[in-house]
Amino acid sequence: MTDRTTRSEALFERARAVTPGGVNSPVRAFNAVGGTPRFIASGQGAWLTDVDGNRYVDLVCSWGALLLGHAHPEVQAAIAAAVSRGTSYGTPTEPEVELAEEIVRRTPVDKVRFVSSGTEATMSAIRLARGFTGRDVVVKFAGCYHGHVDSLLAAAGSGLATFALPGTPGVPASSTALTLVLPYNDREEVAAAFAEHGDRIACVITEAAPGNMGVVSPLPGFNAYLAETCTAHGALFISDEVMTGFRASRLGQWGLDGASEGWKPDLMTFGKVMGGGLPAAAFGGRADVMAHLAPEGPVYQAGTLSGNPVATTAGLATLKLATDEVYDRISLVAETIRTAAGKALTEAGVPHVVQSAGTMFSVFFTDEQVLDFAAASSQDTAAFAAFFHAMLDRGVHLPPSAYEAWFVSSAHDDRAVQAVLDALPAAAAAAA
Ligand code: PLP
Repeated sequence: MTDRTTRSEALFERARAVTPGGVNSPVRAFNAVGGTPRFIASGQGAWLTDVDGNRYVDLVCSWGALLLGHAHPEVQAAIAAAVSRGTSYGTPTEPEVELAEEIVRRTPVDKVRFVSSGTEATMSAIRLARGFTGRDVVVKFAGCYHGHVDSLLAAAGSGLATFALPGTPGVPASSTALTLVLPYNDREEVAAAFAEHGDRIACVITEAAPGNMGVVSPLPGFNAYLAETCTAHGALFISDEVMTGFRASRLGQWGLDGASEGWKPDLMTFGKVMGGGLPAAAFGGRADVMAHLAPEGPVYQAGTLSGNPVATTAGLATLKLATDEVYDRISLVAETIRTAAGKALTEAGVPHVVQSAGTMFSVFFTDEQVLDFAAASSQDTAAFAAFFHAMLDRGVHLPPSAYEAWFVSSAHDDRAVQAVLDALPAAAAAAA
């Protein structure tokens, strides 16, 4: 035990005694990189402070949720004011109407329903797609994560357009038997799946730009192709923007392709940024599809804390502050760090590819462009682990897995960026 992590180590030990793996979401346990996760005591702007008093520039930003950084004063004030009025009423409230209006203004959805996590959002969107179409098959892509929904925790079956196997014990084969898992960015496989099963396919769900196998952008026109193919076969196209929404750009990933290419998803899912650091997520889409939801329509979906007034207030405050200038700053910071990471790794002779989708980016420790999960899986994860720990030792907290996106916020000022740039050369050398 070192002095630097004494209290984190003690807390991790206590946590492991009462919580599986000592964490409430697996990747937090540092299982992919080894070592002791830092127990964070506070965050301010771009910086985290752990229970041992160490400070880190945060390149996780609560897995993308914190677009404005930690403890943004105006978001904090809005939350405090909301809490002072009460925390939950189980009735409709004004903030949820305002947040829904803001989301409808900023995205191509006509109507939106709030839930508390991205998992609930995708689960509900799929139920709605099945209820609306009267069909049962769901198409997803290998390497795309949509939360821990049983039918979406599916591993690719063998061969062309065969149905999936459960991706984890605890998911019955019957839960994934109606899920087709295809390679990402592969139009031919999509065409083959529709040729064989088209009249049974309720929906295609995809991350708008995958961030859960590292950042892999859709090839130009891929999302448009999915939208068109779904329409041609009477299926719905669900674009999962839980990670990219209000993050990849002001209009999410859709702002980077759909808006210019002229297509719209039938349903979308949102989370992270729209909750301003509190548990809020949503699904939304075409008015005629959303009209199938209870109480308007027959498809049941509900939630005790859905549209919680404190969470929706935090989300609304965040989105109102998320101006073009905020996205300009985030883009600049992302580009600066991306470029410096690439340069440091090149100079150290470490095979790598830096990929981005708008302001989201990640570094693959491999030497070829990554277009799908098979390529992402060819990474040198040991090199990433060495890089990760060298960055952590130098006060930069990266996501603790080679398969995750890196996130920055508008609070990443020049000092924070410089701290990252200063750490990169030695970390790149450690990965060599
Ligand atoms: N969809 C995407 C694209 C995600 O990245 C995530 C979580 O990282 C989810 C869904 C699930 O969201 P949550 O963790 O809030 O359940």
